[in-house]
Amino acid sequence: MKKKKTKRRMLKSQLLKAMPWFGIDIGGTLTKLVYFEPKDISSIKLDKEVEVLKTIKKYLMKKSAYGKTGHRDTHLQMDNIDIRKRSGSLHFIRFQTTDMCEFLSLVKRKSMACLLKTILATGGGAFKFEDDFRKELNLDLSKIDEVDALIKGIFFAEDQNRSECYYYENCANITECEKRAFDFSKSYPFILVNIGSGVSILAVHGSDNYERVSGSSLGGGTFLGLCSLLTGCKTFEEAIELATAGDNKKVDKLVRDIYGGDYERFQLKADFIASSFGQMHSSEKISDVSRQDLANATLVTITINIAHIARLCALYAKIDKVVFIGNFLRINSTSEKFLAHAMHVWSEGKMEAIFLHHEGYFGALGCLLQMNKEI
Ligand code: ADP
Repeated sequence: MKKKKTKRRMLKSQLLKAMPWFGIDIGGTLTKLVYFEPKDISSIKLDKEVEVLKTIKKYLMKKSAYGKTGHRDTHLQMDNIDIRKRSGSLHFIRFQTTDMCEFLSLVKRKSMACLLKTILATGGGAFKFEDDFRKELNLDLSKIDEVDALIKGIFFAEDQNRSECYYYENCANITECEKRAFDFSKSYPFILVNIGSGVSILAVHGSDNYERVSGSSLGGGTFLGLCSLLTGCKTFEEAIELATAGDNKKVDKLVRDIYGGDYERFQLKADFIASSFGQMHSSEKISDVSRQDLANATLVTITINIAHIARLCALYAKIDKVVFIGNFLRINSTSEKFLAHAMHVWSEGKMEAIFLHHEGYFGALGCLLQMNKEI
């Protein structure tokens, strides 16, 4: 009887640890998938497992774009990574959450998850799509809290990749600042600002000691929504391209537009924004702005608001390092420089903005790493 039980437990644990290993973060806008590809599959005993891994490799490596919105971010790939005594590469894939049906039918068609019983998942979609995973793939979603997954993923990425963190040197001058590697070895405490569809702000005191301190509904989703309405753009890439070529000063009301110059008593410079979109009540001014200017003003409005909230949270918690992550910062160095500049100038050089290369993937990475423990 005892023998039977032990055998069953071993079989169960083998099955649960069976490859492929995925972690998934199903967000409000984007689904992020992290996949661990083992380097040496000749040591794998199960024929079926080898077959599945070969199918994934063939499908995954042949291209870096899948379906309508799927992309593998090849520049983020991490090689020579050891997880659970296996060596291999981590691949980072994203697609729009609205394409979940296509994703599930692809995984089913290619039998990619046929050996799995459970997959570790985070994000609101882990609840919303639970039944679809079960019906379509016969797969249970074991849910991990977003915050736990995020922190786990950040520390793993930072530990494995010495160039994960960066900051902007000389950010007092936004046009001259330059990206530089940041040594995150003495990381605690820090404020973590996750800019996804909305914004979540955490105070992190240690790897097991963190709390959510604030948030905002005005995030990356707001930028994309408003920008689409104002400019007719169709994608985030297009919105960023437009914003990069525009000038918010034609849209916003500056201190100069009100005072004619600096507001000296409070050291407010003439080109400081007094009112975001403040010129857009005048038909004359409206006729003078381009789609690019509107996109830029939208980007700046959202970014400044996030910088304000982040700074107040850091002040309140008496913390001087502020780490910004989330896919809003994808291909968006304009916002990064703005955040770096704002944190530096408003705190008179006391606060520092730090960024991480794997931007929006930490939740999914945390899920992949958690697998063993959770089971
Ligand atoms: P969530 O988990 O809420 O989906 P993410 O960290 O994935 O959050 O960030 C989503 C935000 O990233 C979007 O609101 C948008 O501003 C930005 N973004 C970056 N790339 C894309 C893309 N390809 N499609 C849509 N939004 C994108």
